[in-house]
Amino acid sequence: MALRFEPALESIAAAPIAAHYDHFIDGAWTQSTGGERFATIDPANETELSRVACGTGEDIARAVAAARTATSTWGRMPGRERAIYLYRIARAITERSREFAVLETRDGGKPIAESRDFDIPTAAAHFFYYAGWADKLAYALPGTAAPAPLGVVGAIVPWNFPLLMAAWKIAPALACGNTIVLKPAETTPLTALRLADVIADAGLPAGTVNIVTGDGATGAALVAAEVDKIAFTGSTAVGKGIARAIAGTKKRATLELGGKAANIVFADAARDEAIDGIVNAIYFNQGHVCCAGSRLLVEERAHDDIVARLTERLRTLRLGQPLDKNTDIGAINSREQYDRIVALVQSGIDDGATLVQAPCAIPERGFFYPPSFFTGAAPTQRIVREEIFGPVLTILTFRTAAEAIEKANATPYGLSAGVWTSDGAKARFVAARLRAGVVWCNTFNRFDASAAFGGYRESGYGREGGPSGLHGYLSA
Ligand code: NAD
Repeated sequence: MALRFEPALESIAAAPIAAHYDHFIDGAWTQSTGGERFATIDPANETELSRVACGTGEDIARAVAAARTATSTWGRMPGRERAIYLYRIARAITERSREFAVLETRDGGKPIAESRDFDIPTAAAHFFYYAGWADKLAYALPGTAAPAPLGVVGAIVPWNFPLLMAAWKIAPALACGNTIVLKPAETTPLTALRLADVIADAGLPAGTVNIVTGDGATGAALVAAEVDKIAFTGSTAVGKGIARAIAGTKKRATLELGGKAANIVFADAARDEAIDGIVNAIYFNQGHVCCAGSRLLVEERAHDDIVARLTERLRTLRLGQPLDKNTDIGAINSREQYDRIVALVQSGIDDGATLVQAPCAIPERGFFYPPSFFTGAAPTQRIVREEIFGPVLTILTFRTAAEAIEKANATPYGLSAGVWTSDGAKARFVAARLRAGVVWCNTFNRFDASAAFGGYRESGYGREGGPSGLHGYLSA
């Protein structure tokens, strides 16, 4: 059983939230032309945190026009000067990290330990990293005399890593001399809006970064607007729609989409480490992770032992209040996502797979789902093919490395994969044959600003992170 810990709630005093927010356009808080607002709620208790502006097509047009005007200052500024601003943003996020972490956790439901130790420091790291590139862009595109910015970037991000996904786009876009209009996800706008304060304090020229809140219609308006590039992270369905919408235009795009990653565990893997790796791969951020190791492929002779150990390990995971520093599993981001998880799990049960769930108490209010896994699933079932985007793992078996590779690649996605084995040659052999943008060996869900991340096939195209992350923001 899980050890009992006294609650250790992070204080919310560090992160005051206003009753309502407007858009951040041309360096100023700007009311929506439509005048409508929508609520953003705390998914851990279903209470309203704030009301944010619902962006109209006109709001988007104003933001894009401001960004276009700002290209003449920001885009022409020497790289070494742009770097100064990026370093300022990075430092300010670091200095205000507790405030950002509390906001991220309240708005999105993720455990404070994750926002504090992963989301916010990694977001700051991307600004630090790309600040260093701002005056070295010629080295990012070797053979190009003077790489130039594209102009105005429209960035659309999802709700699972709100500030981090925004940083993945804003930092390289600005380093390259582009200006930007960001559309945060509708359920998690608060850290992006707080970033607007940081950007204003850092003294960036007005219009360099604009933030327009809203839903899918606001995102679609941004895609249709006079932008030079769309940087999108979100679902494959919406990503395909964006690709269709910009086909035949000069707009560029990077699409970071969904995944259904295979996490392959060979019988010779260090078992305790593999169990922790499996837990991290699927239960990190309640499984709201595009690259989550949601299909566990276990070598047949290790299956029963791995299942027994995983069942035991689930008993030690602490599900509860996201603001509690002891919490491992926080709240599901929204009721809509909760309902989606419930429906997909029901499909697995109906299809005859066996469900195992952690025996944890579920709080009465809020959207909480216990860490779960399925055994006995067949490759044709929805729980094997579709992205559940929740704390639900599906376990399959294999007998040979060739079978593991075949099953791992039997998906339209190709974002990430994992390989667990004590045999280095086998790890290299298998990793080289997996059709995925990132393959982790004897670890999972590791990120670094200097490392490229991105997908194959229906997981999208383009890379974020590292020098490759600059390519999508420069024209040769
Ligand atoms: P989503 O596609 O529903 O929404 C993502 C963003 O797109 C939101 O801001 C939303 O408002 C906006 N949007 C919705 N409809 C739009 C439209 N027609 N035109 C333009 N914008 C529109 O995705 P989600 O449910 O918020 O996020 C979860 C998905 O994101 C999962 O599939 C996950 O795998 C994926 N994801 C991918 C990565 C990656 O790096 N590949 C990272 C995180 C999440």
